[in-house]
Amino acid sequence: MSQQDLIERDRAVIWHPFTQSGMEQDMLPVARAKGASLYLNSGEELLDGISSWWCNLHGHGHPAIVEAARRQCEQLDHVLFAGCTHEPAVKLAERLLQKVPGQLRKVFYSDNGSTAVEVALKMAVQWWYNRGAQRSTIVALENSYHGDTFGAMAAGARGLFTKPFDSMLFQVKHIGTAGSDSDLTRLDVLCRRKEVAAFIFEPRVQGAGGMCMYSADALNQYLAICKEHGVLCIADEVMTGFGRTGPLFASAELCPSPDIICLSKGLTNGSVPLAVTACSQEIFEGFISNDHSRTFFHGHTYTGNPIAAAIALASLELTLSEECSSARARIHNAHTECARALRTIAGVNDVRLTGTILAFDLYDPGSGGYTSSIRNVAMKLFRDRGVLLRPLGNTFYCMPPYCITEEQLARIHTSMIDCARELAR
Ligand code: PLP
Repeated sequence: MSQQDLIERDRAVIWHPFTQSGMEQDMLPVARAKGASLYLNSGEELLDGISSWWCNLHGHGHPAIVEAARRQCEQLDHVLFAGCTHEPAVKLAERLLQKVPGQLRKVFYSDNGSTAVEVALKMAVQWWYNRGAQRSTIVALENSYHGDTFGAMAAGARGLFTKPFDSMLFQVKHIGTAGSDSDLTRLDVLCRRKEVAAFIFEPRVQGAGGMCMYSADALNQYLAICKEHGVLCIADEVMTGFGRTGPLFASAELCPSPDIICLSKGLTNGSVPLAVTACSQEIFEGFISNDHSRTFFHGHTYTGNPIAAAIALASLELTLSEECSSARARIHNAHTECARALRTIAGVNDVRLTGTILAFDLYDPGSGGYTSSIRNVAMKLFRDRGVLLRPLGNTFYCMPPYCITEEQLARIHTSMIDCARELAR
């Protein structure tokens, strides 16, 4: 199919996510990908500076991932996961549970970040229900994003994305990320009422909310209050998991550890959909009974898909390798250099960096935020330089796959510095 043909046929039949078709430019027709590079139908190469929405860790078409998919596809492609089990799902659960922080003992599979969060919220609320306690209030952080299904939307910050549905979303109490005295008091008061089932948070970095970075200290104080009152703590590591913030999981920096962790995105190297909600033995045991009404009635057709699990195992082994840790350190060091250069540019604000995530806000004479017109102008400038970056409004960020070479990362950094200079003028 020619490039133009593909774009026109796409426009005729496809509704894209997070896209206002009345305003959006043409879609990029991507023909293939290898490592950190995407190749368009025209042959044009673009460096994937955002890991295809934060999930591609080891590059596109990694041989170990391709081989795991091929082998598993020949062996067992899919089987229902109620009443059946298989080796890839069991091995992946065992391996993940060895690596996640804290004392998590059980894995519940689903398909994507939003479903991982839905599962976590339902698990927490029903855990209290099974104990005969009326605790259904959820506490979350201001500015958070947990996905687009109803429960995940309810837990996230209210705004542009949720407005049409606000009257349908259950009430959630939101507190700030700063750990101020008033936030701590508010949380303490809420917890003392014995109505709070769970506290959910994106540890260390709030991604879709604008790559907002905050310290583990504030979170640790919140967690301590929750623990004191028995409130379950849910770490949404859909974006931060698998080394993005430095350690394998951002929750490794937390004390006390969460009772539930949600994972997706990097779990399968972004090759196929899969998600995990891992929980403590205590939570699992709250559902064990000879009474059907205490069952966790939740599941999806593709729960625990064997191909996805086999790919996730292969991806996890790559992530645990020495080579991957040094690649992450190398990216962090290069980001640090780039951050220094960015800080000298007038109009570039709040340059921030955690692990392999580099972000800054560009001055916007308009109101800024997610709908800032700066984004489309910037994306065009990046494309002209052979780079795919997709700012969140006037928040620019780079979150490359760990396989990116020094030279490729330098090209992305240079394009960010050039674009910031050009747009800030
Ligand atoms: N949680 C967090 C922290 C996320 O960043 C996202 C997606 O960006 C989600 C949940 C939702 O994941 P998905 O898009 O796979 O439903």
